[in-house]
Amino acid sequence: MFKSRFKTLALLSIAGVVLFWFLGHNINVQAQTPLRDPVTGSCECPYDRTSTGRLCGGNSSYSKAGGSVKPVCYVEDQPSPTASPSPSPIPTASPSPTPTSPPQDSTDAHLKYGNPSNATFEVDKSDNYLLLKPQYAISYNRSKGIANWVSWQLNSSWLGDTPRQDDFRPDSSLPSSWYRVTPTDYTNSGFDRGHLTSSEDRGATVQDNSATFLMTNIIPQSPDNNRGPWVQLETYCRELVKQGKELYVVAGGVGEGGTGEKGAMTSLAGGKVSVPASTWKVILVLNSSWEQVSETTRTIAVNMSNTQGIRIRKWQEFRVSVDEVEQQTGYDFFSAIEPTVQSMIEAKVDNQ
Ligand code: MN
Ligand code: MN
Repeated sequence: MFKSRFKTLALLSIAGVVLFWFLGHNINVQAQTPLRDPVTGSCECPYDRTSTGRLCGGNSSYSKAGGSVKPVCYVEDQPSPTASPSPSPIPTASPSPTPTSPPQDSTDAHLKYGNPSNATFEVDKSDNYLLLKPQYAISYNRSKGIANWVSWQLNSSWLGDTPRQDDFRPDSSLPSSWYRVTPTDYTNSGFDRGHLTSSEDRGATVQDNSATFLMTNIIPQSPDNNRGPWVQLETYCRELVKQGKELYVVAGGVGEGGTGEKGAMTSLAGGKVSVPASTWKVILVLNSSWEQVSETTRTIAVNMSNTQGIRIRKWQEFRVSVDEVEQQTGYDFFSAIEPTVQSMIEAKVDNQ
């Protein structure tokens, strides 16, 4: 009697320990969505939802920096066992087709092949400050008032018929003590408010499209660059996606001083916004979302002068190697790719 009771107790304890270990282990491997650094000691959500689709607001946590792999601010991104209450009423009438939502791990996807300048959430490294959004990742440069680069995944799940939102606005996810560039800083400058992540690359939802109009995704672009070879290449990228391909794109500006409709300028708004000398883009082209990167994987890189007079030129004329853009910018693209493969795909100049 005593023996069997003891046996049961022992078994239960073992089961308990195993269960405890399992739960603990599981919590450790949960994806954590980083939030921006606290200015006041509390964490703020830079966007409305975590990468698993839960509302961000109530779930933010704060961990002291140092030694941990956890970002300073993060969301415990555990999938909720029950569906979270939807704030909008469930439509009962017309059965509308469910839009394809971006992949669950969309935030991580944008840096899947590397973080070109090792941008971080450290507020004191304000010229290489990481902004992670569900729609793209940015290295922001506070002194320049523009991004160093924006990186994004592009596959069919991101495309759709959402109308262009045109809601250019300051990015409130920047630390509150920093100047936040406004749409009017570009007014009458002779330069376009040029998108890095193209508006049409984010057409699946209103939220996604609207995110491309944050001023941290915008650079002063000469109209002939923006509406000429630059937009041609953007359109070509979406054509590749419509053929079933998956792209990883990084874009930015380099150098200082361009020429817009009102002549040459090095900055706008009294020095608040730097005008790049050229705009560059590097693209990794996978034939499908499950294809592994290999020595034969296609890359496309361009560097286009930020000047007038190039509108009728073809985007193909501006092709260079990824290596060339790395030299110009000082960044390392595709650093997550094995070195021998990386050097092969970065050395060639696309000719397709
Ligand atoms: Mn554009
Ligand atoms: Mn590289």
